[in-house]
Amino acid sequence: MKDKLMLMIPGPTPVPESVLSALGRHPIGHRSADFSTIMAQVFTDLKWLHQTIHDVLVLTASGTGIMEAGIVNFLSPGDRVLVCCNGKFAERWADMCDAYGLDTVRINGPWGEALDPETVRVALEADTAKRIKAVVITHSETSTGVINDLGTLARHIKAHGTALSIVDAVTSLGAISVPMDEWGLDVVASASQKGYMMPPGLGFIAVSPKAWQAYETAKLPKFYLDLAKYRTEAVHHTTPFTPSINLIFGLQVALEMMKSEGSDAIFARHHRHKTAVRAAVRAVGLSLYAQDDAAASPAVTAVITQPVAAERLRSHLRKHFDIALAGGQDSLEGKIVRIGHLGFVSDRDILTAISALEASLTELGYASFAPGAGISAASQCLAA
Ligand SMILES: *Cc1c(COP(=O)(O)O)cnc(C)c1O
Repeated sequence: MKDKLMLMIPGPTPVPESVLSALGRHPIGHRSADFSTIMAQVFTDLKWLHQTIHDVLVLTASGTGIMEAGIVNFLSPGDRVLVCCNGKFAERWADMCDAYGLDTVRINGPWGEALDPETVRVALEADTAKRIKAVVITHSETSTGVINDLGTLARHIKAHGTALSIVDAVTSLGAISVPMDEWGLDVVASASQKGYMMPPGLGFIAVSPKAWQAYETAKLPKFYLDLAKYRTEAVHHTTPFTPSINLIFGLQVALEMMKSEGSDAIFARHHRHKTAVRAAVRAVGLSLYAQDDAAASPAVTAVITQPVAAERLRSHLRKHFDIALAGGQDSLEGKIVRIGHLGFVSDRDILTAISALEASLTELGYASFAPGAGISAASQCLAA
């Protein structure tokens, strides 16, 4: 049905009406006083969201562009970098490090499980010569629905002393607490189309004083992504190059909404939705790709749909219920569907998605559950 599409993918995520209306305003100049007034507010609110007193910079870029900024600003060719690899996004960051001629060391862990922080601790402790310059971590691994233990990893990195933590928080920020200063994170990257309840197009990068120190000697080439340019202009509440001004209008409204809901309520909502979806999946007799509840991402749940073909289920939901789920990537293609519950998602959305999932499973001939079992399990979690 026209205009009825419900996005239950882990990005882009649904956008509230008030944010959409803000986007529709006439653009203004990014050197105007009006724009600086908006940016002053935006910069303040971004610090609140990141739980930091340090710089949070805004770039017109996708999440990948922001991660690239996180690499090129703080490292030099040949620098040794550990990349925590237990999913598709993590592998992208390892490939990116390779592309820049870094000495990339992949710390591999099984997909569908949180990376064991011990493997990283051991690698860091063995590095007495302090050759490791950074550890790249994907906090919420969107390809598998896993959350990595960032707090513990951050402790190990701090104990090393030299290495920076470079964190992909793209599907964790705004879904679960990422206390940048408390955990001593150095570089935290995120993007507008995920927890921010925004369309794609803006990227955010928070930078610690220790990372700025590394910037001074970092020799990888950069120009558009040179973060010092952004830091200089942030002082004047603007950006060095023309940003997506209309997205900034939307961002101001989205951050306002987040503040009025409150961070604890936002994190509780994501936790509730994750729990409800997982309970429903189990209740209908399907399996979770990330089996350990403690390793489950608050943003996305990956479901092994066997004996039902994942792509048939996905197209049935799309065709009959106007609900878009994500499929599996790489080796997981055709094996899993991923249910996004990130950003502007309410309890009603969860119940709708679970009902449609149940109906679709039944219509596709899967009969190993009592009708209503998924909904009943989900509602209990939502009521708790
Ligand atoms: C979406 C996403 C990104 C960013 O991808 P872009 O398409 O470049 O915006 C990065 N990391 C994770 C974990 C993501 O889910």
